[in-house]
Amino acid sequence: MTSIQPAQPMPRFQAPDPERAFAIRMLEMLAVPAFVLDTECRVVIWNRACEKLTGVPAHEMVGTREHWRSFYDTARPTLADLVIQDRMDEIDHLYLHVGRDALTGSALCAETWCDMPRSGKRRYIAADASPIFDDDGELAAVVQTLRDITDEKAAQNALQQLATRDGLTGLANRRCFDETLRAEWARATRQHQPLSLLMVDVDNFKAYNDANGHLGGDECLKRIACAVAKEMRANDLVARYGGEEFAVILPNQSLKGAAIVAERIRCRVEQLLVPHGSGSNRHVTVSIGAATAFAAPDTDPSQLLAIADAALYRAKHMGRNRISLPATEVA
Ligand code: GH3
Ligand code: MG
Ligand code: MG
Repeated sequence: MTSIQPAQPMPRFQAPDPERAFAIRMLEMLAVPAFVLDTECRVVIWNRACEKLTGVPAHEMVGTREHWRSFYDTARPTLADLVIQDRMDEIDHLYLHVGRDALTGSALCAETWCDMPRSGKRRYIAADASPIFDDDGELAAVVQTLRDITDEKAAQNALQQLATRDGLTGLANRRCFDETLRAEWARATRQHQPLSLLMVDVDNFKAYNDANGHLGGDECLKRIACAVAKEMRANDLVARYGGEEFAVILPNQSLKGAAIVAERIRCRVEQLLVPHGSGSNRHVTVSIGAATAFAAPDTDPSQLLAIADAALYRAKHMGRNRISLPATEVA
């Protein structure tokens, strides 16, 4: 069992009177990691919990402006520095979830990943920076408190993953697809840009399952999902639409561009050379239907889905392992 050691005396920024000394002592002993900067961004207090969080002892920090080294690999202002130097315009660029404390209104709250170079353990930290004013209302110091919320962040990410990803393929799930399509439709309307959609369906997959078993079918779906995802640009989204069907959203893509992507996907799947195993020497292939629309206000993307579906049906009807396009983009 670890015993609680008495606090080491810490350097002080000026000879304190007894009340002040008590206040400083209290902050030093606080269970919440905290440090205080004076108006020149020099560390005046670095409490024990902050030593524990960062692995950096107070005597290395107090009196210096090197506190960023305890958090980051490269020079970067802490939240307290930004408050002291009135550099609020940089906060959104450097931090996530920036806000003000609902109770005091003056404390600034923000979150960020910290490298924690001394411990080598990257942590996700929620920080609050509160200005301290003197009797004349002048800024005297800023106290920054820190909360290690790495575990909460990991749990939140896992939940997000569960809510938006398909368990088998790791692609976006149907719910994520529906939400993204609505959002992209609204964006395309605002920006007067085309929006393209591909519906990708595995050919004769029932027979594949019959020949290779359901688990073999699952493996095949994973390989196809991976192949389709490889053709995506940063803003595209590929989702498992259902069963052996995938849907691809291509923002700001013309019908001609969508046809090129569709053909690349078709080729990539064919080139996987996955034996179909249903008595013939065929390989697994996909059929793809495409559609492109110029979204209009007060419309929804259901027409785009219907056109892509109809194109997919034609591709199947014409013999499978092919792409099919509607005659024109819809207005
Ligand atoms: P088509 O070329 O006309 O698309 O024929 P198909 O056999 O692929 O189409 P059909 O709709 O008749 O069959 C789809 C099959 O996909 C049946 C179903 O068991 C299988 N399937 C759907 N989801 C999964 C899955 O998650 N894993 C596996 N292994 N099979 C699945
Ligand atoms: Mg199919
Ligand atoms: Mg199908």
